[in-house]
Amino acid sequence: MSNMEPEDLSELSPFELKNFLTDTAAKSGRLLLNAGRGNPNFLATEPRHAFFQWGRFAMLESERSFSYMREGVGGFPELKGIEERFEIFLSHNQNVPGVKMMADSVSYVRDHLGLPAPDFIYEMTEGILGCMYPVPDRMLKLSEQIVSEYLRQEMVGEHPFQGNFDLFAVEGGTAAITYIFNTLKENRLIIPGDSIALGLPIFTPYIEIPALSEYQLNEVFINASPELDWQYSTHELNKLLDPKVKAFFLVNPSNPPSVKMSEQSLRYLADIVKQRPDLVILTDDVYGTFADDFTSLFAMCPHNTILVYSYSKYFGATGWRLGVIATHEDNILDQAIQDLPEAVQQQLDKRYESIVTNPRKLKFIDRLVADSRTVALNHTAGLSTPAQVQMVLFSLFSLMDEEKRYRKTMQQVIRRRLQALYKNAPIKPKFDAESVDYYHLMDMEILGNEIYGPDFIKWLLNRLTPNEFLFTLAAKSGVVLLPGKGFGTSHPSARISLANLKEVQYCQIGQALKELMADYKAEYVKVTGKSPDK
Ligand SMILES: *Cc1c(COP(=O)(O)O)cnc(C)c1O
Repeated sequence: MSNMEPEDLSELSPFELKNFLTDTAAKSGRLLLNAGRGNPNFLATEPRHAFFQWGRFAMLESERSFSYMREGVGGFPELKGIEERFEIFLSHNQNVPGVKMMADSVSYVRDHLGLPAPDFIYEMTEGILGCMYPVPDRMLKLSEQIVSEYLRQEMVGEHPFQGNFDLFAVEGGTAAITYIFNTLKENRLIIPGDSIALGLPIFTPYIEIPALSEYQLNEVFINASPELDWQYSTHELNKLLDPKVKAFFLVNPSNPPSVKMSEQSLRYLADIVKQRPDLVILTDDVYGTFADDFTSLFAMCPHNTILVYSYSKYFGATGWRLGVIATHEDNILDQAIQDLPEAVQQQLDKRYESIVTNPRKLKFIDRLVADSRTVALNHTAGLSTPAQVQMVLFSLFSLMDEEKRYRKTMQQVIRRRLQALYKNAPIKPKFDAESVDYYHLMDMEILGNEIYGPDFIKWLLNRLTPNEFLFTLAAKSGVVLLPGKGFGTSHPSARISLANLKEVQYCQIGQALKELMADYKAEYVKVTGKSPDK
């Protein structure tokens, strides 16, 4: 077998490498099976039905308030009487999909959250029309309370939690990441030469951003180990005790192993934070909602932690660009800003004085908002209001789903795909109670060893160049997988997304992997003159 890798691509991010792999797969003459992407092939329907029906109601509101309807001009909705008109709309459209959820949403917001129904209907109706700049720019008022409730349910759960938290609605988890890095830097909370710790394996941008010229951060890796079912050992976590480490960034449940941090590790980390009260934590919990009884580090260490959540994966909403950043009202970031040296404070006063009279009191989360529009454009910051409406409907959909039917279906779909992947394999995937299996990391060393034994796999790993396995697989069978190595795993492995193909296609991927191993075995026999141990 020849080396299929076109040039030296070993330095490329897995997401860029994917384009080369896809080209190779396209030329294979086989059907392209791209399991490289995290974009799910499922989506939540009910909250979308509710969105579109709410849009119809909003159009009635707009057109009743203005007299130039035939010219295509409408006006703003009116708060007065909106609840009655909403009831009439519901009764005229009773059997239309989404209308029941609209009705249930209003009851839930009124009865369970204690928010005024007319104000909620108005915020959603004006929001869906997109006729006003987002005010407050950080997030619409009631929307913030509803999404807070959702995060409290999903990220905190039964864990004791005191106080409130603030939210900033953003254009997806990736915008959240960009904004947070930028504001930490602009406020000198991280400066070039500082060390930040990254929990590996991790979503690649977290490895790449700190090394960029504008950041120049030293990276300390906290390695989860496959031997511990992808948990961090206490030895690794102890690296956080070093006061030089300013911040710890992690993805939980992780990407790619999809494993959530164990209760034990969470508690250990909380103890570390007691010894390191200045440690900033950024936890990206995009996959948290796929797990039962998930507890975020945000619940464990609320004063130290910035929470990032995205609606992209769980609701199949990548095109919507919906994400949120949360910080506790009482947090160490605000404290650290106040403790900056006077000279730095004065520079920051200048930075923010155009938007507030007392810049020193401007919270970290509001600095994120201002910095997201280069401060000067602060008044037009914020997530588009129709997007906030869809975010609220996704959140309410989960809040009202007491039996967790949506989550159970998600879990079932994903687990069936994992079974399909291993259907024809000599080994079965190890069941891991902490894993949500959104991605599966297939360890080539373990797989090869299991099929043909240790001598074979040693030969194979020596014989392969980085990524060669993936290119050969793409060229031969049209299957695209990403290298686990790009996400910071130490063993050669492939990341298989279980989110974006049909069950039967995972069977085909399993088969293709098996055939490729058999090809390598044939080569092994030919070259070494030995037959494998197994
Ligand atoms: C997919 C993903 C994101 C991106 O979220 P968007 O909301 O689509 O921008 C962020 N973090 C992790 C860990 C992800 O896997």
